[in-house]
Amino acid sequence: MKFCPQCWNPGHTADPIWQNVQARFCYLCGIQLRASCANCGELVVSTRHRFCPICGHPYKMAKT
Ligand SMILES: [Zn+2]
Ligand SMILES: [Zn+2]
Repeated sequence: MKFCPQCWNPGHTADPIWQNVQARFCYLCGIQLRASCANCGELVVSTRHRFCPICGHPYKMAKT
């Protein structure tokens, strides 16, 4: 599944608009959607996880 690392709230369903095959950037904030862990590249399979089960990297990007 794809998600916006900035707008998605872990534990909640990812927005269906992000799942569109044409969707490459978030329609809310404009950053590139991710489908895998930013650290190790493991595919994200469940929106119920907040952290990568492989490396422990948080899926949600910290706001800067
Ligand atoms: Zn976004
Ligand atoms: Zn990882």
